[in-house]
Amino acid sequence: MANGRKARRVLVTGAGGFIGHHLVNLLRARGHWVRGVDLKVPEFEASAANEFTLADLRDPENCLQAVKGVQDVYQLAADMGGIGYITRNHASLTRNNVLINAHMLEAARRSSVERYLYTSSACVYPSFLQDREDVQPLREEDAVPADPEKGYGWEKLFSEQLTTYFHEEGGLDTRIVRFHNIYGPLGTYEGGREKSPAAICRKVAEAVNGSSIEVWGSGEQTRSYCYIDDCVEGLVRLMDSGYNRPINLGTDELISVDGLVNLVCRVAGKRLEKVHNLSKPQGVRGRNSDNALLRKVLLWEPETSLRDGLQGTYTWIWGHLQAQGRAKPPEPVPVRQVAARRVEIPLSQPLRTPRGGVASGLEIPGHVRMPRRGQGGDDSSL
Ligand code: NAD
Repeated sequence: MANGRKARRVLVTGAGGFIGHHLVNLLRARGHWVRGVDLKVPEFEASAANEFTLADLRDPENCLQAVKGVQDVYQLAADMGGIGYITRNHASLTRNNVLINAHMLEAARRSSVERYLYTSSACVYPSFLQDREDVQPLREEDAVPADPEKGYGWEKLFSEQLTTYFHEEGGLDTRIVRFHNIYGPLGTYEGGREKSPAAICRKVAEAVNGSSIEVWGSGEQTRSYCYIDDCVEGLVRLMDSGYNRPINLGTDELISVDGLVNLVCRVAGKRLEKVHNLSKPQGVRGRNSDNALLRKVLLWEPETSLRDGLQGTYTWIWGHLQAQGRAKPPEPVPVRQVAARRVEIPLSQPLRTPRGGVASGLEIPGHVRMPRRGQGGDDSSL
């Protein structure tokens, strides 16, 4: 039994990667049997999977082997990275991911997998809806008419559609989740595939207090960020929900990149000057998640504040760099327990956004809470 429910046999692809590794930990902690598959083992600690196979999932035979005997598939394997990596590798990345997703779906259908979850991205949303810093939060139906991010975003949109066809025609019980910037400990923090929170934490940790760091772009571009514990909790809840259409998984706390740097500096206890490099890729001007559907379907939403999440992330990255003699003082204060608080929304209550400790973020220059569609800027209610 797993948490009062029957233990399931689960495949996590991409189990050597950031989100996949955390997901394996959660599923194992809940008593499920887990097989992990990836091209590589996790970078920072051993996998908790019952079985871990190194395999290239672009190969259809490997996909058939991977799904053998499992009931649930979480498909997280993807060739991906930060904005620099994605911008440089449109052809190879698109090809690799199309192959993985097409072969994984076919293998799942052939071996009668019971539930299949595909991990998509906010990069599917049209760039014409993301051309301002004070962007409207993106709703699921905004994805079409389409104009997604070149390469990576087009592939995600295509694979969402392919997943839907396997549901409609092949009877596969599918889920499709669109992540919005997931971050946290045990994630890549250098080498080109790291995302902005990890890259900024690394730069701040390595900087001498009072010096400067490089920031990609103008620093005014905005994003929302979701802590890893909330992300994997949301994945498991979505799998259990039975909801088949695409759904956002992120937070709706919008912050500029400069605001993110300020927040990391505050967590780090450092004062640093920002040197903006406009020659570096910076993606869309603004991107935020509309969580109305998430709240309705899951009766839950991520609630770890950005400050708490960054504190955990920064402390972990600082520790790694310190072990290599690269981190500069001060040593960050010990991490408070983050993401232990979860919010359940009773069905009978009107939907409200939990605010947790996020309010402190409002003091950070560059941190903006966006009014939602159809509302006049009252950000305490939906
Ligand atoms: P990650 O790069 O850490 O993990 C992906 C894993 O897939 C890697 O370990 C990689 O080795 C593996 N992989 C790549 N090609 C493979 C192949 N041919 N065969 C087997 N394994 C292969 O990325 P992540 O952040 O853990 O992302 C997981 C999923 O979530 C991906 O589908 C990604 O596109 C999606 N996503 C992530 C974010 C985010 O903010 N992290 C945002 C949007 C979408």
